[in-house]
Amino acid sequence: MDCIFCKIVDEQMPSYTVYEDQYCKAILDISPANKGHVIIIAKGHYENIYEIPKDDAANIFSTVTRISRAIKEVFKCEGLNILQNNGEIAGQTVSHFHIHLIPRYNNDGVIIKTKHLTLEKEEFQEIAINIKKSIEN
Ligand code: 5GP
Ligand code: ZN
Repeated sequence: MDCIFCKIVDEQMPSYTVYEDQYCKAILDISPANKGHVIIIAKGHYENIYEIPKDDAANIFSTVTRISRAIKEVFKCEGLNILQNNGEIAGQTVSHFHIHLIPRYNNDGVIIKTKHLTLEKEEFQEIAINIKKSIEN
């Protein structure tokens, strides 16, 4: 399989590694939004959040907290975005599960934008019921 992140995990390709354990490898993003932009890559080839086993995800998300604190200490950043893209439409360019940690500063020019819908009470209720049912299944 021709996966760039598998090659980085297997050290067939070089990276600036900041942390590694049995579940993940955290490296500097080669095209960072800001200095200190880290991506935490799952060791297994799971394409996205739907495929990654719960145990791997739990361990990796716990590593997110450790590395976030380290980035804050080193870069004295004012904020930090944690992004995890799933699917091309959501901005995923590498189909191997990873999490972005992006240090943020006032007027740093990084743009992470959303729109906001206004919904009726009934729509909120229906949405909540449907998601709740799906979680319970
Ligand atoms: P995505 O858009 O899939 O959420 O994020 C992929 C990220 O991987 C991008 O921010 C991109 O800069 C980074 N990236 C792609 N190829 C490489 C690489 O070969 N080495 C490193 N360190 N980062 C990479
Ligand atoms: Zn892979």
